[in-house]
Amino acid sequence: MNDAQRLSLLKRTLSYCYDHAPHYRQAFTAAGFHPDALRSLEDLAHVPFLRKAELRSYYPTGILAVDKRRVVRYHASSGTTGSPTVVSYTKADIATWASMVADCLRLAGVGEGSVIQNSYGYGLFTGGLGLHYGAELLGASVVPTSGGNTARQVKILQDFGVDVLCCTPSYALYLSEVVAESGIDPKELPLSVGIFGAEPWSDSMRRRIEDAFDIKAYDIYGMSELGGPGVGMECAGQDGLHIWDDKYLVEVVDPETGEVLGEGEKGEIVFTSLWKEACPVIRFRTGDISHLYDSRCGCDASDQRIGRIVGRTDDMLIVRGVNVFPSQIEHVLSKIQGVSGHYQIYVERKGALDDMEVYVEVTGELFNDSMGEIIELQRAIEHEMYAVLNIKVRVRLVEPGKIPRSEGKAQRIIDRRML
Ligand code: ADP
Ligand code: ZN
Repeated sequence: MNDAQRLSLLKRTLSYCYDHAPHYRQAFTAAGFHPDALRSLEDLAHVPFLRKAELRSYYPTGILAVDKRRVVRYHASSGTTGSPTVVSYTKADIATWASMVADCLRLAGVGEGSVIQNSYGYGLFTGGLGLHYGAELLGASVVPTSGGNTARQVKILQDFGVDVLCCTPSYALYLSEVVAESGIDPKELPLSVGIFGAEPWSDSMRRRIEDAFDIKAYDIYGMSELGGPGVGMECAGQDGLHIWDDKYLVEVVDPETGEVLGEGEKGEIVFTSLWKEACPVIRFRTGDISHLYDSRCGCDASDQRIGRIVGRTDDMLIVRGVNVFPSQIEHVLSKIQGVSGHYQIYVERKGALDDMEVYVEVTGELFNDSMGEIIELQRAIEHEMYAVLNIKVRVRLVEPGKIPRSEGKAQRIIDRRML
């Protein structure tokens, strides 16, 4: 899609919001902006941002740009970082969303004949129903297991000829462990594709899951405020998330100043929807950190591509004045033999000082090693953490299975300073 086409879509969207959503009319007016003044895509920088806190104030309908009677569905965010935001959908919104998810699945080679086990939660969370509608539109067969009941999930994986698994990456890893514990090699399952998202995960985590099941694991990105899953998707090249050009405009801004950053520069991702009827979002500050690619992907699925999400601005821990992202810790652990991929970060305040301890689960083989070797491993991880983070972190190695498993998004940080 060329810039002129996108400009005309953007103009239409801004006028629509100005005419139909009192929130935008007020916000635009207060910022001295009128949709008619938009001359180029760059002019978007003059439009005010939309923040999560503003959306929360529209509980329980969301920012509505349509008559409430036209709403056919409500969803809400999981509330990872505060009270949930509600989003509503018209019939057309549901149809467009399904087509976006179908396009994502198609990028991963899913189609008619695929058997999909959808272990994202069904309900207010957008993951379950979002994937479901997209998969059905493609003509694939969906087994709507939703989250939870892991024993049944494993049985269905074995019995239904499932070749595509949809869930969070942390749950996928857990499922592979439970399958292995039941005496079956996960590689023997007919599974060939994983569609994993809803939480940050590293390339090393990807390799771990791919090796465990002998599958190809694709990253899928989304968030309820933007519609749900299906906003961004990897292609077979596994190099960045494609964002549909006719559905969103993506910007990357400095999280502190809001200044628009150039391609390749890391910052907060800001989305403008070009398709949403009920709850359009204009310059929505996602809180997710990534960068825009400056080159096109060989597959040509879309012009816009962002790097995989490295964390959230509100996920960032400030420990003794140093910024720490869980993804940095995951990166350190990924290079170390003998750890399982499950970890949790505890932060406490001892006296005036912040104290950070990382619980790291070791693999079964390592657990049988001598005490001396375990202590050596612990020191090695602490040393690596210091080299990367520049603060002293205590590492506690724990036995296999000790870190709580999540059926949805993994809880990586326990910050007791706020309690
Ligand atoms: P909440 O913000 O309450 O978690 P959502 O359920 O809408 O609500 O989740 C959206 C968030 O989940 C995103 O903002 C992002 O932080 C995270 N997320 C979703 N998909 C991915 C992904 N593929 N990689 C990293 N983070 C993701
Ligand atoms: Zn591609």
